[in-house]
Amino acid sequence: MGLEENLPSGVLLTSVEKLVNWTRKSSLWPATFGLACCAIEMMTTGAPRYDLARFGMEVFRASPRQADLMIVAGRVSNKMAPVLRQIYDQMPEPRWVLAMGVCASSGGMFNNYAIVQGVDHIVPVDMYLPGCPPRPEMLMDAILKLHAKIMDEPLGAKRAAELAESGHKTEMIPSSIKYAPKKPAQQKIEK
Ligand code: SF4
Repeated sequence: MGLEENLPSGVLLTSVEKLVNWTRKSSLWPATFGLACCAIEMMTTGAPRYDLARFGMEVFRASPRQADLMIVAGRVSNKMAPVLRQIYDQMPEPRWVLAMGVCASSGGMFNNYAIVQGVDHIVPVDMYLPGCPPRPEMLMDAILKLHAKIMDEPLGAKRAAELAESGHKTEMIPSSIKYAPKKPAQQKIEK
């Protein structure tokens, strides 16, 4: 029997870490940053059919100072790389990066002198999303997985060191399982 069983209803117990992470993942604001064809799918994801607003993130910010998620949608040219890095540097901490599509993740089929062979050469990437282009459902799945990652993030360097020492790994529950419809409760058949 735990303490929570003796509390009156309406009292919620949680840790500061969980609460902070929950508020962070529930209000991710992406920077407006589309580079190529993948950006069309990203824009579609924000449209009413897919409705990113459900996750508190329909506002794509035009100013990096008000954004905490960079979705790199498309191939990154060498000419664009310093601009991308500058936008990333202007975003406040904590911030996250999602590499959308095979071009952003690895250069894709553009194995040539003009294209950066993976945006992780420029900025640290938190989530890679494969596909050419990934469909809006795939982008939403990557965003939900990023939410799971954010929920597991330690608050502060001391806590991070503690978790690293204990061998803790981020628990990544696939969103197809986490958000799967629940089985309807077995109805009693009254005779
Ligand atoms: S992954 Fe495909 S759709 Fe996306 S930017 Fe590259 S070529 Fe275009």
